[in-house]
Amino acid sequence: MKTSRKCPMWNGGANAANAANAEAQNAAATAAAASNQSAATASRRNIPELELTAVRYRHLKTGAEYLHIDREDENKVFSVGFATPPSDSTGVAHILEHVTLCGSQRYPVRDPFFKMLNRTMANFMNAFTACDFTMYPFATENWKDYEHLRDIYMDATFNPLLRRLDFLQEGWRLERADPTDASSPVEYKGVVFNEMKGALSDPGQLFYTRTQQLMYPNSPYAHVSGGDPAAITQLTYEALRAFHDKCYHPSNARFFSYGKIPLEAHLAAVDKKISQFERSQAIVVSGTYNAQEGTRREVIYGQQEGTSLLTDGPSSPMYRGLIDTGLGAEFPPNTGYNTSTRVGSFTLGLQGVRESEVEKVFASIREILHTVHKDGLDPNRVQATLHAMELGYKHKTANFGLQLAQAIYSGWCHGSDPIDLLEIEKNLNRLREELANGQPFRRLIEKYLLNSKNALECVMLPDPAYHEKLQTQERQCLEEVNKKLSTSERDCILEDEAALLAKQGEVEDHSCLPTLQLSDVAPQRPSTALNFTAAHGVPLQQRALSTNGISYVQLVSSLANLPPALLPYVPFYCEALTMVGTVTKDAAEFDDEIRRYTGGIGLVIRHSLYADVSRYELGVGLGTHALDKDVPRMYELLQELLQKVDFSRLDRVYTLLQGRTSALVQSVPDSGHVFARLAASSDLSPSQYVSNVWRGIAQVQHTQEMAAQTSMSDIADKLTTIHQHILRQSAIRVAVNAQPNAMAENQQQLDGLFAQLAPNTSAAPPATDAISTRIAYTIDAPTSFASAVYPTVPYIHPDSMPLQVLGSLMTNLFLHREIREKNGAYGGGASHVSTAGSFAFYSYRDPDALRSLDVFRESVDWALARKFTDELSEAKLSIFSSLDTPIGAAEEGMLYFKDRITDEMRQARRDILFRVGVDDIHRVCDTYLRQQAAKARYAVVCNTEQAPHDRTDWQVASMTP
Ligand SMILES: [Zn+2]
Repeated sequence: MKTSRKCPMWNGGANAANAANAEAQNAAATAAAASNQSAATASRRNIPELELTAVRYRHLKTGAEYLHIDREDENKVFSVGFATPPSDSTGVAHILEHVTLCGSQRYPVRDPFFKMLNRTMANFMNAFTACDFTMYPFATENWKDYEHLRDIYMDATFNPLLRRLDFLQEGWRLERADPTDASSPVEYKGVVFNEMKGALSDPGQLFYTRTQQLMYPNSPYAHVSGGDPAAITQLTYEALRAFHDKCYHPSNARFFSYGKIPLEAHLAAVDKKISQFERSQAIVVSGTYNAQEGTRREVIYGQQEGTSLLTDGPSSPMYRGLIDTGLGAEFPPNTGYNTSTRVGSFTLGLQGVRESEVEKVFASIREILHTVHKDGLDPNRVQATLHAMELGYKHKTANFGLQLAQAIYSGWCHGSDPIDLLEIEKNLNRLREELANGQPFRRLIEKYLLNSKNALECVMLPDPAYHEKLQTQERQCLEEVNKKLSTSERDCILEDEAALLAKQGEVEDHSCLPTLQLSDVAPQRPSTALNFTAAHGVPLQQRALSTNGISYVQLVSSLANLPPALLPYVPFYCEALTMVGTVTKDAAEFDDEIRRYTGGIGLVIRHSLYADVSRYELGVGLGTHALDKDVPRMYELLQELLQKVDFSRLDRVYTLLQGRTSALVQSVPDSGHVFARLAASSDLSPSQYVSNVWRGIAQVQHTQEMAAQTSMSDIADKLTTIHQHILRQSAIRVAVNAQPNAMAENQQQLDGLFAQLAPNTSAAPPATDAISTRIAYTIDAPTSFASAVYPTVPYIHPDSMPLQVLGSLMTNLFLHREIREKNGAYGGGASHVSTAGSFAFYSYRDPDALRSLDVFRESVDWALARKFTDELSEAKLSIFSSLDTPIGAAEEGMLYFKDRITDEMRQARRDILFRVGVDDIHRVCDTYLRQQAAKARYAVVCNTEQAPHDRTDWQVASMTP
């Protein structure tokens, strides 16, 4: 039903953009005075395929834009965003995002998001700085909570304090290298300064950033929006404030809400906040571009199709021509159509290329494009891609509202109608029509790729001295600074240092922040009704629910009897299984079929603990989903995969292995804290040993060794042996999540599938190698990661929950301040990994990892001495919010299926959480962390300079080949 909304402050409709004049403002005032009679008709559209209605408004006084998405979803979302195109690489937009979160007029506490973690049931709170806009979104199921957070978000963005000391802490500052020596030379510090040093040390991100800068030389994209460390130190406090005044203004704001909310009351609250502002100029993202400007709407979907058609999967033309031929290992991260800039760009490329073959790569790309243009694209591939898109938007995820917000902000800031961007079916149908009438991609390839006058060819070569050069540059820069430093300037630095230290040590009053109470938390969560049966003797778990007509299938196969020597090969097996092809179809053909009829077949290494540290299950999980009409085809493909996979295609094995090695090695600088934790905990229990072998540095090293082998046949044999273990019927269990009317079909198909598999035997668990209790892995990156891990208790143990609360208290009240605010690391914390039975500390992108290990130990004494009061219920609230995080249709019942964690176990932990007292916290801290300190294990991932070479209690291993 189309109704007009009674909303006097907000106007909707096509002419809303003209509301910039005085008459409109007068009209608004009149409307406000007589709100019941005058109703502005909003621009409103129903989008059935996403089961939502979108409504657009414009704020009459300030011109602020508003989009509400009405949908039957309890997980409500709010976001405020601004166009923030940068005019230099000082990272002003990014630093502003950080400083904005250091306190506002109504909520003058630093890091209100962080402080709110303990007072809210939000399942998402964050802020993002993109290349030309900044957004602040959150999601929660609780309406009271929603109102609290909305007020905090709006006060933070429109009325932040933007104090100078916060700028020094979050942005950059000069500080003495040795704080005890008054004449010590100064050096650069600051959260964003370190964050960006880390971010740009990732080769993929560096390539992405530099390519974009080169592509759009006379535009905001010529700059690094996050900040280039060398330029960050040019930013002044005054420039930061000016940028805020210009960009964070209602006239430049885009508000977004999603879910079931009382809209009128909500809009009135937003109006009340922004009506204090006079109208100002909205920011238009502009500049001259290298890329051609096409009709934007047409290009978005057309070229996104082009993206996957040209590069997705082993049957794509670019994969065959560039990767199968051995020219390189994988596509670079900026591959495909990028719509984040105002004028899009399309990137084709390759990484892991030998320098002598760079020209050949460019020539091959051109040749492939010519061939595709001449011969057209395989119609099967086109159908498969259209099918994947349909399945993609029907797939019900837990944070659907956030996904929508993230999908539209960029186009919205560039002037598109955000509702147009949501109309997927309409765009897909247009594409189907064009396809029926000819080859639309031919035209796109010709116009935008073959005949583009603005194409850019970009090559990034490795430089072994790269990080050293950057460090030398910084050192020279600092020498210059130190030389020129006058006595009065030095005094200022000393003053700032003292002031910052004093501020960081201040005990803040957080009572201005609103909070939910434990009484707002539901004592019980609804349980998940599961049905247990069997398919040809294989245990089958069924969960009937509404899924938009999709059937989800999960198989787990136990690896308990796998010879230990084969363990390190399992992750590669999981990656290769669906990618090598079968005895009747090559990899490309088989992949096309998978794409055409399913949402993909994914394998993961399973590593369950049965809620008990001493018992654990090693296994492989295989998951897929399909539209209900395609269920028979999905099982046909599964059967073909399981019975006919062909690892003797050695060329494929080799190609896949090169790609995996490159990706793994590159992942270390970004996830060093995870690698450090896995390495540290490796000898605490057999299951954690396997974690390191499968996901940790041991896996990176093993994969590098495999890739260096000259013959692949030995590896192929090992993969085949693993596969035979997977196939044993008695090792398998299966779960189906589907609509009630699709269960019978799934059951029948599974009966048929399992009738073919062999029985099972059992054997011994893997042996563990002892590793040093203190180990440092050196990598080629400027920042470091630290971890300390203590053995504790399993998930179902009564102490497991108090340990989790302890981790939360330590993180929020101690480690965040010491590691992030004082030491300048990007992050740090502690948590009880209840499924692993260990308590782990970590630091992330840390300038001094060894110092953080001391901080971890200090936190134990701190916790034992602290009398937690309100803080305890706050910590509990934050844990309840993580326990109550919504999940998607495919995940319901999976905690039991995969880890054997029952609703009763979860409820028992929930009951304990309500009861946990200060005594429990002190007791578990004393028992597991203080008394058992000798059992702790330590690991750091750092650069060679920081490694503890001279400490005999440390083992140092290099990760650089
Ligand atoms: Zn940041």
